[in-house]
Amino acid sequence: MELPEIPWQEKVELSAMKSAVLVVDMQNDFVHEKGALRVPAAAATVEPIRALLERARRAEAHVIYTQDWHELDDPEFRIWPKHCVAGTWGAEIVAELAPKPGEPRVKKTTYDPFYLTELEDLLREHGVKELVIVGTVANICVLHAAGSAALRGFRVVVPKDGVSALSEFDFLLAFRQITFLYRGVAVSGQAGILFS
Ligand code: ZN
Repeated sequence: MELPEIPWQEKVELSAMKSAVLVVDMQNDFVHEKGALRVPAAAATVEPIRALLERARRAEAHVIYTQDWHELDDPEFRIWPKHCVAGTWGAEIVAELAPKPGEPRVKKTTYDPFYLTELEDLLREHGVKELVIVGTVANICVLHAAGSAALRGFRVVVPKDGVSALSEFDFLLAFRQITFLYRGVAVSGQAGILFS
């Protein structure tokens, strides 16, 4: 089988006023070595995400976090082992990427951060048109965030070093869907995302 080409872009320039960085599920249970549902590749994305956030904040782009947030009887636990239980250490965002005061944390119970949350209102209130998405897992919550955002008319931008998956296939699948299906922008590295 031949893999389809991913149209990586070196550089993308965004208007800081009209953009937000969405940090998806960078929580202890997914990222920390003691996490309940660890994605081993996620640790390597912490530093690139930190660098991206620093640039976004300096340019005064919006920064929004999501947190996977489950009650103990959540139907998702029929698919996955228990993780990100509401109010626990595992559901906290990793210390290295702790939100700054005033940065919203959207709590979600499904893969889709727009489902039954305030995310769309937040983005519309701030006049956001372009959404840089980073975090984990690339083909699960990141992909659902990208799809759901694109279907609502937001332009989606995803840097290669800002997302992680459980396998290389899953990783590439996410970028295939983001670029082909949702017409999002795949950037070869977070350093290529410029805010002005
Ligand atoms: Zn979950």
